[in-house]
Amino acid sequence: MNFVSTRDHTHIVTAAEAILRGLAPDGGLYVPTDYPRFTPEQISAMQELSYAALAAEVITPYLPGFTKEEVLTFTEAAYAPFRNPAVAPLHRLDDSTHVLELYHGPTCAFKDFALQMLPRLIPASVRKTGGKDTVAILVATSGDTGKAALEGFADVEGVKIGVFYPHGGVSEIQRLQMATQTGNNVNVFAIEGNFDDAQTGVKNIFGDADMADALKEKGIVLSSANSINWGRLAPQIAYYFAAYAQLLKNGTIKPGDPVDFSVPTGNFGDILAGWFAKKSGLPVGKLICASNKNNILTDFLGSGIYDRRRDFHLTMSPSMDILISSNLERLLYLLTGDSAQVAAWMAELKQEGRYTITAELLEKMAQEGFLAFCADEAETAKVIRSTFDTYDYALDPHTAVGLSALQQYRAKANENRVSVVLSTASPFKFAEAMLHCLQQPVPEEGFAQLDALEGYIAQKAPAPLADLRQKPVRFDRVIAKETMPQAVLDWLTR
Ligand SMILES: *Cc1c(COP(=O)(O)O)cnc(C)c1O
Repeated sequence: MNFVSTRDHTHIVTAAEAILRGLAPDGGLYVPTDYPRFTPEQISAMQELSYAALAAEVITPYLPGFTKEEVLTFTEAAYAPFRNPAVAPLHRLDDSTHVLELYHGPTCAFKDFALQMLPRLIPASVRKTGGKDTVAILVATSGDTGKAALEGFADVEGVKIGVFYPHGGVSEIQRLQMATQTGNNVNVFAIEGNFDDAQTGVKNIFGDADMADALKEKGIVLSSANSINWGRLAPQIAYYFAAYAQLLKNGTIKPGDPVDFSVPTGNFGDILAGWFAKKSGLPVGKLICASNKNNILTDFLGSGIYDRRRDFHLTMSPSMDILISSNLERLLYLLTGDSAQVAAWMAELKQEGRYTITAELLEKMAQEGFLAFCADEAETAKVIRSTFDTYDYALDPHTAVGLSALQQYRAKANENRVSVVLSTASPFKFAEAMLHCLQQPVPEEGFAQLDALEGYIAQKAPAPLADLRQKPVRFDRVIAKETMPQAVLDWLTR
């Protein structure tokens, strides 16, 4: 198995090369040329494995050139700091509705699953490809990726990490998490613009040959920790298997029973990992793509028209405030096998702001299990409130969008199959929005909000968030988006 670019299937690289480059030179994303398969017996046997062992089993075949022993040392180190022994525990709401808590890692969002692995995969990939350069990782973040990447890469030898986030576009707790980051190899920039501006700025830097030359002279190569990197996507496939294994173990399902997954979606990475799990033999039924008011994917999966010429909304689920879902490109390529067509659609998106897929491809996506629903702010708040009232369980706003989408699907399809909602963040990351949704008084100050939420839902805030109180702010620069390349050069070559 190798990897090819979604925009040029004749461009072939190894897993290590795909991880180091992040993005293909033609602007495409790397995809595997094959799908590893797990038998029903192998899947059943996963019930008995620790999360680290299960993850090594699932991820290794997706990283050809890495041994299982090697990957196991990575997963054991990556998932050791998680605050729950199950790493990705399943919480039962009722017989058919389960929540996969993916927020027990160091930064309290699901991004930790991949970004505790990537800092191990990148240095290993440098070794495998015989490189000697310093790797500079640039990240555009809508809030959670940035912190998870900073935490994962802080003080990792041979790596520097720089993060760009939209000024005013992240929650107060998210901002503090990044602004207080420790480590000698880290830098954080707020930009005047939204997430798409940050992501476009980073993509442009990657495409800038002059910049690459200037950095190369200093022995530095750029790479990406955004979910366009295969090293981000592969680790996420594992927790779909872990959810299924837990449902088997607690007797909710029998081997082979299909399970639907509802996934709060932004860049389409998390849900695509679920589709890879399905291609690898996991009995995944529907893959419900849940969006907030930025419902471009709901429209796309309904009509086949991807049209980004629309208003951008800031919502209380900021990690899903995205109009360009990069990982969708992978699915388009893998379902058509036509890299020239994908390149043409992406060029159209860049130039005209829209593209239209064929009716046949749209139908194929539905056959693969993809469905989409969206929830606006009022609906999200209603779901947070009703879930707390009914089940005494606090869902963060992203997860609430996911549960709403599941409920909408069930109502429409008259279906009540065993389902898992991926819970992508701790509610304490969004304390202000939570209090608002739960119709509680909202204190002015961020930490007072944490205290108030602790009191109301009778649960302690995770230590990494509570501890922010004692941490000094190190980064408070706000820059114009046009100056991103210069800021990167200044930082890396000074
Ligand atoms: C990143 C993120 C998402 C969206 O995940 P994608 O892989 O970008 O689709 C959803 N919820 C939270 C809390 C996130 O941090």
